This record gives sequence, C-alpha cells and structure tokens, in this order.
Amino acid sequence: MKAWEKNIRKVVPYVPGEQPNQPDMIKLNTNENPYPPAPGVVDAIKSFDTDRLRLYPDPTAKILVDALAAEYGLKPENIFVGVGSDDVLAMIYLTFFNSDKPIFFPDITYSFYDVWADEFRVPYEVQPLNDDFTINKSDYYKENGGVIFPNPNAPTGIIMELSEIEDIIQANPDVIVVVDEAYIDFGGVSALPLIEKYDNLIVVQTFSKSRSLAGMRIGYAMAQPKLIRYMNDVKYSFNSYTMNQLTLAAGAAALADRAYFDETRNKIIATRERTKKELAALGFVFGDSKSNFIFASHPKVSAEELMGALREQNIYVRHFTHPERIRNYLRISIGTDAEMDALIAFLKNYLA
Ligand SMILES: *Cc1c(COP(=O)(O)O)cnc(C)c1O
Repeated sequence: MKAWEKNIRKVVPYVPGEQPNQPDMIKLNTNENPYPPAPGVVDAIKSFDTDRLRLYPDPTAKILVDALAAEYGLKPENIFVGVGSDDVLAMIYLTFFNSDKPIFFPDITYSFYDVWADEFRVPYEVQPLNDDFTINKSDYYKENGGVIFPNPNAPTGIIMELSEIEDIIQANPDVIVVVDEAYIDFGGVSALPLIEKYDNLIVVQTFSKSRSLAGMRIGYAMAQPKLIRYMNDVKYSFNSYTMNQLTLAAGAAALADRAYFDETRNKIIATRERTKKELAALGFVFGDSKSNFIFASHPKVSAEELMGALREQNIYVRHFTHPERIRNYLRISIGTDAEMDALIAFLKNYLA
C-alpha cells in the first residue's frame, strides 16, 4: 500500500439501477416515468439559444426557483434547487448533519442514505420497519442527530399518514427532519404545508419521476428561508453553478404545463391500481404502494428466479439482496399499459 492511500476518503459507492439500452426492452427497474417530458420542455430545448452557452448560468437559478415558488405558493426564499434530489440530499447532509449523535432512517429505505452518512462521516442508526413495512414513529422519538425518510418509502412504496409525520417533527425540535418526497405526486399527501409551522422541516422533491425528467437532473428542497440560506452557503462553497442553462429552461417549462403533469401522473396511478389487481390474482403479495412502483413477492417462486426469467424476455425489474428480509421482493416500476400487459402476460404463463 502506498503511503498516500491511508489518507483516501474511502467509500463504498451507491449502486444505481442498470441502464441497459436495448431497442425492445421493457425497462421497469429504475422508477423512471414511461411518458415523455411535457411538450413545452421539447420546445424549450429546441428553441434554446446556444450562443448563450458562452456565459455561466444564473447561479441563483432564478427562472426555475420562481417557477417552483409559483407552483407551490411559496416565496423564492423557501426553495433550494440541485442536480437531482440526490445532490440536494447530499447538500442537506453536509449542511445539517454534523452532530456527534447518530442520524436516524429506516432499515429498509433509499440505499443512498447510509452511503452519504459513510461518505460524510455522519454516525447513523437504522430503525427497523414493522413487519408490514410501515414506519414505527416512536422509533424516532429517541435522541438523535437528524432524521431522514422517504414518504412514500422506497422501495416499499408505503405511505405514512401526515399526522404521524407531524408527530415525528414535533418530537425532534432540536434537529432537522427531512421528508424525501420523490414519489409524492403519485397519490400521497405532501408534508409541504407543515414547513410554515416547523423551522426544522425540509421537504425534498424531484423532477425525475413524476415530471419525466430523470435525464435532466433537477431536484429541490422546500423549507423556511433560514434553512435554505444555510444550504445555499454550503452550495456556494462547493459549486456555484450546479444548474446549467438548458436544465433551467427545461425545468421551468415542465412546471408550466400542469395539464400534462396531471394527465401523465393520473395515467400512472390508474395503471398501478390495475397492475395491483393482476399481480394479486397471480398470487403476489405486496403493500399498498402510493408510488410509481410495486414492491412484490411471490410465495411460490423466488424473486431471484423471477428476475432472471423476466430478464430473458428483456423485461428489467429491480432486486435488492440487502437487507435479508427484502431478498424475496422485486421492485417493479409502473410502465405504460402496454408494458404492464406484457409483464403480466409473461408472468401468467410462467407461473401457470
Ligand atoms: C429517485 C429517488 C431519489 C433521487 O432522485 P433524483 O433523480 O436524484 O432526483 C431520491 N430519493 C428517493 C427515495 C428516490 O427514489
């Protein structure tokens, strides 16, 4: 080992879902939206004046922040934007999770949370979900250095009642509580109205799922201005220009088309509910997902076997080997009706 190797920030990286690129594949493995971005996004990109690329982008990301403020009835001071919510969440860790006490998150959750904790040397303690994969709010009443969980949770898709979330926020007035709402637009109730009441709450959302822009990388946090100012101080001390000009234009255009947003998310919700019925008829068991995926297990055939059989048909789904109790589950993203029909038809045949 070279001497300099002992001074490396060694990390075990987060493993993103595969991005295979085959023409006839059915890609249900990374919770992307099966529908294209809003038509206005396409126009904004096509009419983008490339001469402007000489210039740095607006470091305050004003057009996007203003559009988000208008969308949610907030002030620009309430909003922080970043390169996907992954970037926003990493900035939150760096800004707020600096206590000697452990931060808390569920044992089964977004697998980036422990990766950032390790990377930024933040102590953490996982809180086990109940057997039905619900969060037990009182686990989060103990002393801690911060709290973070997704709502709906990932990869379970299960939602927590707003009143229970409020109980967790109230029990933790001395630390920051982060609600990661990556999937909230698919039928959940957002904690956003609570930011007015609680100065320790941050709500994080993304354009990657409900707004069909995973490839553009746009995420945002909403909180009281003081929290946003602290986050911006850290951002400007790291990289002032996180949001490029094309991204800003595309993001603002996506927000301008509410009708398209409602149409596509309602389609996904309808497809999800129909898929639940068909999976249940095939013997699958799963919780009541309010996200754009279903986390399902079959009592007779292992998840690993099913995943392999699906892959041979060019149907990609996600399988997690950790922790042990989700080993027999597959996370199936909701695609178009035709894609889900193909999935169900194959499973019907395979399980017969
Ligand atoms: C997808 C996802 C994110 C990250 O999304 P970005 O593409 O970085 O915006 C964050 N949290 C959860 C729970 C997610 O599922």
